[in-house]
Amino acid sequence: MSALDITILIAEDESAIANLLEIALSGAGYRCLRAENGTRAADLLERGNVDLALLDIMLPELDGYELLDWCRTLGVPAIFLTAKGDVRDRVKGLRLGAEDYIVKPFELMELLARVETVLRRCGKTDRILRLEPDIEVDTAGRVVRRGGVPVSLTAKEYELLLLFLQNRNIALYRDRICERVWGPDYPDGSRTVDLHIQRMRKKLGLEKRLVAVYKIGYRLEDPV
Ligand code: CA
Repeated sequence: MSALDITILIAEDESAIANLLEIALSGAGYRCLRAENGTRAADLLERGNVDLALLDIMLPELDGYELLDWCRTLGVPAIFLTAKGDVRDRVKGLRLGAEDYIVKPFELMELLARVETVLRRCGKTDRILRLEPDIEVDTAGRVVRRGGVPVSLTAKEYELLLLFLQNRNIALYRDRICERVWGPDYPDGSRTVDLHIQRMRKKLGLEKRLVAVYKIGYRLEDPV
């Protein structure tokens, strides 16, 4: 496991560029997944283990714009990475919901800085995560406090809480929750997910905010 425990998907069909990205990102402590076409990228996104996606726009099979739809559905922030530099493409990418837009050729230092900014903005790198009004998670120490008082969570309950904190207001599919917290080979998904979520939200008083979404899974909502 890398020090940062953050996985970045590189969806890029030019292997020279993908290599460069992988070397730079791995060197900075990120775990990298690579896809040389859109179908493969969508598969990797669906497995639910991606924290950030770098999407080339001109990709075989599914292009970057189509992949952005997958990212949005799955709650994965995305940065477009493309040779197309004109203003219209840039505006289109951002309007569709990309977090940022980088034009090739790019400086690696700039790329790393932008990756860091997006991860921070999406709450993926903060050491202390807060959930209003009174919950605080120290991710370095793995300590959860409610109103300043430590709450004892099991390892799975903690992983669940982290997943929801990093995907607020997004409906997460049971399958995705299961894969993310239990891994891809876990046999019996939904019942286990339900039980662990029920226990976790009770311990933290989140019964009204961590809500079941019919036929999908669960969503952590901001207070009204
Ligand atoms: Ca390309």
